[in-house]
Amino acid sequence: MDYANNILETIGNTPLVKLNTLVSELPCLVLAKYETFNPGNSVKDRMALQMVEDAEASGILKPGGTIIEGTSGNTGMGLAMAAVIKGYKMICVISDKQSKEKIDILKAMGSEVHVCPTDVAPEDPRSYYSTAKRLSTEIPNSWYVNQYDNPSNTKAHYLTTGPEIWKQTNGKITHFVVGVGTGGTISGVGKYLKEQNPDIKVWGVDTYGSVFKKYHETGIFDENEIYPYITEGIGEDILPKNVDFDIIDGFTKVTDKDAAIYTRRLAREEGMFLGNSAGAAIKGVLQLQEHFTKDDVVVVLFHDHGSRYVGKMFNDDWMREKGFIE
Ligand code: PMP
Repeated sequence: MDYANNILETIGNTPLVKLNTLVSELPCLVLAKYETFNPGNSVKDRMALQMVEDAEASGILKPGGTIIEGTSGNTGMGLAMAAVIKGYKMICVISDKQSKEKIDILKAMGSEVHVCPTDVAPEDPRSYYSTAKRLSTEIPNSWYVNQYDNPSNTKAHYLTTGPEIWKQTNGKITHFVVGVGTGGTISGVGKYLKEQNPDIKVWGVDTYGSVFKKYHETGIFDENEIYPYITEGIGEDILPKNVDFDIIDGFTKVTDKDAAIYTRRLAREEGMFLGNSAGAAIKGVLQLQEHFTKDDVVVVLFHDHGSRYVGKMFNDDWMREKGFIE
């Protein structure tokens, strides 16, 4: 018999899939690291499990404890899954910009969900960062995960995602392109790949309204770069410790409209039903095309599944309301 002992054992070892129609104008091979094959339908299952297991090993997370996290949904899903299997209580603190589907999914997995306003500064007591921190001081035997600064986030990708991509491409990968939120994916995968071959280029995909690109180029944290945006999962108004700017060669910014349109195009032209940051990532690859030549092997990572966006990017009324389609 061939079976996993529980759902957590099925995390990782996701496929690498060639992109065809959407990248036909590019001279090189473009492969997608297809993270929706994880049991929680996103890449974040990997880091959620790593963070929980490292917290257990260090003794900060004790039996019967409560896991608290400020999460846009996918990390919450991964943590909720680990909490169910390992017997912890889970509280997710989420911003009101996130899709209703994501909130309902967390509740379905047994999590308590607190919804906070998006457009307040991180240090504002109403923000989801502040609320998560406050709950962790009020609730006994609780642990605030803090995926932004928790080193186990990057470590998960250094130990699993990076080695998988290296092995699946037979060491032929030349470029890695990925959306950046907490920075765990780009930093862990990027570090591993550059240790194997320092010539591999690592590109981050950022949003308009986020600080990463300007900070990487100038070293200046420019508050004028911060404004509300629609793209989900990537871009930040803070500098998470998990973003290792030294291993990143550059950032490209994708507009909300392009991210939404390319999310839809992935479904209709490649049969890939994916989340909004996948649309941003593939548009980022197209924007970077001047950097690619014939023999290059570009790997782009797709973070999550389309089901969480049916009321948004996949809904024509929503797209019209945002002015993204006629
Ligand atoms: N896309 C989606 C849908 C996400 O949930 C996240 C995590 N915030 C990212 C991209 C960015 O990944 P990371 O946090 O590892 O930078």
